[in-house]
Amino acid sequence: MRLGIKRQGKATENFLRQQRFVNDVSHELRTPLTIIRGYVDILERYGAQDSELFREAVTSIKKSAQNMQSLVESLLFLARADQGRQPLNMAPVELDELLKKFVEDFASTRVQITKLAPCKIMADAEFFKQMLTAFLDNALRYSPPDTPVKVELTAAASEAKLKFIDKGIGISKEDCGKIFDRFYRTDKARTKLNGGESSVGLGLSVAKWIADRHDIEIAVKSKLGEGSTFTLTIPTI
Ligand code: ADP
Repeated sequence: MRLGIKRQGKATENFLRQQRFVNDVSHELRTPLTIIRGYVDILERYGAQDSELFREAVTSIKKSAQNMQSLVESLLFLARADQGRQPLNMAPVELDELLKKFVEDFASTRVQITKLAPCKIMADAEFFKQMLTAFLDNALRYSPPDTPVKVELTAAASEAKLKFIDKGIGISKEDCGKIFDRFYRTDKARTKLNGGESSVGLGLSVAKWIADRHDIEIAVKSKLGEGSTFTLTIPTI
């Protein structure tokens, strides 16, 4: 009997989670689809004669399509991950070299490597870089455009510490525990981005999955209005 109630509770929980998920996805798709519909209607009505309007429409439609694409890619990634269909190719990696090259390719003048200790880890380099992208994108996105984002790599006997330090909007104590949940975004972040940039609240969920597969621990230290530091503790070989 007890087991029956427990099972029922689990089924209800799964149902509610699924319902919330469908609700979140629908909500995230609604905005870009509304923008696309709106601009297509305008183009239909006024034609392509107005070159400025035409350019604005094409830019917005393209951006909305990109947002939908990145949402769908993150969802597919998490679906494969949930079903255990996301294999990793682990191999020894010189983390300092990977990081240096990664930041060079990232090509943002705001990103500064302030410490770079040599160290070696076991990693799937492609997934690892995807995880780095999530932290770096956020650090840049949620801080003023004229502030630097620092990246520090230090190494001790059996672990390395990789830090992403920004002087941005910060995260409240309460939110720190929730930002890795799927679709979670803080109110501060919503206000800052104000619909302009793509943000669906899945980047850190994907990053956390990759971190877990690498036995990486993530710690967040942040103060509202002052900035955030994400520290990854990574086992070395
Ligand atoms: P998003 O696509 O919204 O950035 P993420 O999963 O990457 O989704 O992050 C979830 C939320 O965590 C963000 O919406 C933001 O509220 C908060 N967040 C993440 N990184 C930072 C940061 N460096 N500074 C402030 N807030 C952050």
